[in-house]
Amino acid sequence: MEALRLWNARAIDPSSGTVIDRATISVAGGRITEVVEATGDTPAGAIDVAGRTVLPGFIDAHVHLVSDVSRSPGFGPAPQLKGEDPRPRELGWFVLAKSCSALLESGITTVRDVGAYDDEAIVMRRAVELGLAPGPRILTCGRIISATSPGGRIFGSMYAEADGPWEVRRAVREQLRRGADFVKLMSTGARSVEREDPEPAQLTREEIAAIVDEAHRIGLRVAAHAEGLAGTRLAVEEGVDTIEHGLALHRAPELLAAMAEAGQVLVPTLSTFHDLAERFSHEWVPRLVDQAKRQLEEAYTTLVAAREAGVTLAMGFDSGPPGANIWELVRMSEGGLGSMAALAAATSGAAAAAGLPDLGRLRPGAVADLVVVDGDPIADVRVLLRPSRIRLVIHDGLVVAGRDLDGPAIGRVAAVDDEPLEPPTGPPSPCCGPSGAS
Ligand SMILES: [Zn+2]
Repeated sequence: MEALRLWNARAIDPSSGTVIDRATISVAGGRITEVVEATGDTPAGAIDVAGRTVLPGFIDAHVHLVSDVSRSPGFGPAPQLKGEDPRPRELGWFVLAKSCSALLESGITTVRDVGAYDDEAIVMRRAVELGLAPGPRILTCGRIISATSPGGRIFGSMYAEADGPWEVRRAVREQLRRGADFVKLMSTGARSVEREDPEPAQLTREEIAAIVDEAHRIGLRVAAHAEGLAGTRLAVEEGVDTIEHGLALHRAPELLAAMAEAGQVLVPTLSTFHDLAERFSHEWVPRLVDQAKRQLEEAYTTLVAAREAGVTLAMGFDSGPPGANIWELVRMSEGGLGSMAALAAATSGAAAAAGLPDLGRLRPGAVADLVVVDGDPIADVRVLLRPSRIRLVIHDGLVVAGRDLDGPAIGRVAAVDDEPLEPPTGPPSPCCGPSGAS
């Protein structure tokens, strides 16, 4: 595989907080081989990044790779008009491909899909692997293992409903058979389902224990959707690897301490609470909006409590449109982490959530996923929201997106635009599927 050298880079490794103001970063065989002070003249063949910032590629630990664009107004096609030629379901594949391009162009080099309809995420992963479409590295859970529940009627093929220890074990095996990289379970109901109360546990302790045992025995990690405290407690105590949402954890400091001790990662998904409480409040059941407002406050309280307890945090946007994921990093930073810890959540923290410790680090041996940024994200993380500031995206040691450092475009880029991305707002434009992922 091709070798690559970045010269005169401000190299930031958020996992260690290390900053080298004038560094050279060498890459060979898809891995970083060297990060050292740059001295002397620009070596032949090196890319002079002219003092720009180089970070590990960003990782989103909580996405739903779905062709449904209801969370992404303006991203998919315009809403269908009456009398218009019917839109085939298969258009959804192009929406997925566009999503993957948008992720890559925004500097997201890995995503962890925590539930998609049918086999959409699994097929998209294969398309990217085969070079049929540009996209980030994709890990997916296949379908979400849930108790038989009202949410099953809303989420349909995103869920695998199962009850009792043997059924849930079979559901784990079915996800592996389907092509899952890890397993996700619903320890509580979902905030987005009117007939579910997200406060009590939904699966029993016995069921969660069976899922974790089955998954871990065959080498799969386990993510737990966890809103209320009772289910969150079962998930933490039974040894899941990541807690998704986890907003109630501030009420139980002993659980945060246990997570820090065991290395269980929290993915706070602040943006998803903004969605239901604010952005899309006009289209949700009022009770759920009121509930989400309370949850939004709790999620921020838990963010700070988890940081203080030493829990590893991971960025997970759980919102749309694809490519606006860095809003979650900004919210984590401004919600109390500060820029360096938020950058760590979006790199090494999310890598820990994915169980891929070779990702998300700027050091020799790490996978060469890199982002070259104009500006200083330590001083102001919001520079990362400006599409024109993402100058190069390197994935597995190859330049895959971004602008040439002198100006002209290379690779696949959206229109040049120095305006920051607005916070995701506006009415949805449904395209091709059901909505409201958990
Ligand atoms: Zn989600």
